[in-house]
Amino acid sequence: MSNFPSDKPVLVTCGLPYANGKCHIGHLRTYVPGDIFVRSLKKQGQEVTFVCGSDAHGTPIVVNAEELKITPTDLVNKYHKHFDSIFKAMEVEFSIFGNTDSPTNHSRTESIVNALIDRGYVYPQVIRLAYCPHDERFLPDRYVEGICPYCGKPARGDECDQGCGKHLEPGEIKNAKCRICGNPAQYREQEHFFFKLSSFGNFLSDYLKTLGGTANAINYAKIWAKELKDWCITRNLEWGVRFPGHDDLVVYVWVDAPIGYISFTEEWANNTGGDWEKYWRGDSRIIHFIGEDITYHHCIFWPAMLKGAGYTPPWAVVASGMLKIDDKKFSKSRGYVVWVDEDYLDHGFHPDLLRYYIANYTSHTKELNFSWKVFQDKVNNELVGALGNFLHRTQHFTHKNFGNIPDGRVDQEILDKIKATLETVILAFDEYEFKKATDAMMELAQYGNAYFQSFEPWALIKKDKDACARVLLNCLQIGKALILLFEPILPGNMEKAWKQLGLPGDVHTARFEDALIEIPAGELRVPEILFTKIEDKKIKEMEAILDKRTKIALSKEKKHEAKERKTEITYEEFQELDIRIGKIISAENIKGSDKLLKLEVDIGEKRQIVAGIAQSHNASELVGKQVVVIANMKPAKLFGVESRGMVLAADVEGAVLLMPEKEVKEGTRVR
Ligand SMILES: [Zn+2]
Ligand SMILES: [Zn+2]
Repeated sequence: MSNFPSDKPVLVTCGLPYANGKCHIGHLRTYVPGDIFVRSLKKQGQEVTFVCGSDAHGTPIVVNAEELKITPTDLVNKYHKHFDSIFKAMEVEFSIFGNTDSPTNHSRTESIVNALIDRGYVYPQVIRLAYCPHDERFLPDRYVEGICPYCGKPARGDECDQGCGKHLEPGEIKNAKCRICGNPAQYREQEHFFFKLSSFGNFLSDYLKTLGGTANAINYAKIWAKELKDWCITRNLEWGVRFPGHDDLVVYVWVDAPIGYISFTEEWANNTGGDWEKYWRGDSRIIHFIGEDITYHHCIFWPAMLKGAGYTPPWAVVASGMLKIDDKKFSKSRGYVVWVDEDYLDHGFHPDLLRYYIANYTSHTKELNFSWKVFQDKVNNELVGALGNFLHRTQHFTHKNFGNIPDGRVDQEILDKIKATLETVILAFDEYEFKKATDAMMELAQYGNAYFQSFEPWALIKKDKDACARVLLNCLQIGKALILLFEPILPGNMEKAWKQLGLPGDVHTARFEDALIEIPAGELRVPEILFTKIEDKKIKEMEAILDKRTKIALSKEKKHEAKERKTEITYEEFQELDIRIGKIISAENIKGSDKLLKLEVDIGEKRQIVAGIAQSHNASELVGKQVVVIANMKPAKLFGVESRGMVLAADVEGAVLLMPEKEVKEGTRVR
């Protein structure tokens, strides 16, 4: 039997997108199946609230805003709008899309933290924290970089992101360096506050036995629940939710981010006259859709926090597997990324096509590989060749020969086939197996095609018009069932198909079980084509975009490596350099460049040298100064001006010129 509809209130959430960058296919791997699941629940007659919102706090946003010289609020608002518009364009329909910097979330977080304090689950402790003496500040989370104490790989302050993936507590990272100025960090002591996660061991081990969702999440959580460490839940930051009673501290972003699920429900309830407490304080079914990488937070930390503060913990956690692009690990810096706006929607692709790909490529918990070639194959063979073809040929042939939906009864065999498919689909949704569900739907489309083909209606109509009408009525019934079944996956196109078939009401509110209600006789319209084949030319164009991006990233990486790599050299090799002291005789700006100066330098002979120091030096102030010059640089032309030599400077922002300790004769060699 199916889990739904349930008489308990059902709330579905999706992991909050971090408001610090654009939406890519990796994000959609959670949001599209979340939306499909919610639509499938509605199709089973389940009332359901679907909440999500932007994650606005934490150090990456502050660091990024500082670099861009804008406020964190401006940065968050920009990406909040971006995600909201992408979700709408992709037909991901949240009941509400909130923001964790909202007043509701500030006050709900304070209230939950206070409840945890009152119940004795929070305690103060003096800890050693990374501190930058140069910037005179503590360095929370992403402000510090160094080496993972567990696996030795480069890591960020709060997470071993390139190695073992462990969460790092403040002060744990080794060889800590300040991310702002690059200087080694010191450690200083300060009082912080800890959540007593270790006292939730018994609760969690019982709870995880009943938690629903996907095995990839729950199995890991069961292992982690055996060794629980208390969590430091405060940070030295301005941006975030204030820790009650301490104006210099905010709560860790992983405290107020999931609380967003509650406050968005509150905001939704305020807007609609609904009741948020029936979900979060009552006997309810809360289902979290997340990416596999945030399982710990949702299966360990979050249920413990909810239990500790007297709220209802989740009923199920559904974790999606990771993403690959062209069989390469997804990586923004290496160019293996597909942006949803500029690489997909802006090229005129319908959102339904990508929704189908995400649902059908593989099991929800396995790794999904995106490639344009496979995308083309799936669209052309499955959506165009099987589903689109069946809906179109059935309706087109019936319209041409009968003008309307024929009178009569649908064969029991057909209704049985639809019923069996329906059961398979609903059970698959129950298990969060979107591939299994969509495979069963597509199998029904193929059954329909084979059925149509086997009766040869184009021949049958000449011999027995009534028999032909009966075959077509059966096909139209299969068509109706397909439209209802595919609505969660392909909402835009199935809405069109529903109207074309002249069916009553709204396909989005119709139920799966309506697939068994026999299609009424009535007028039929000329069907429009729903899905069209994607041409090879278009796919080549898309592949070229990806190819160019990965090549640019690779050459950047190589340049960076070459710059970083320094091999040892011999004294003889050093002597190859002709380094001399020179005096600047004249200096002037170069037309059209705001970076370059043209210098005339006396190095025992006169040399014209172009130097990239115009942003840090006035031409007039340089005349008469002694500098250090590499005299045997290969001549080069910059902005049409010849340069024969190179002036040495320290590589910092606003170049600092090297100069001899005291004045020496021009042309003196440097050794
Ligand atoms: Zn590590
Ligand atoms: Zn610093």
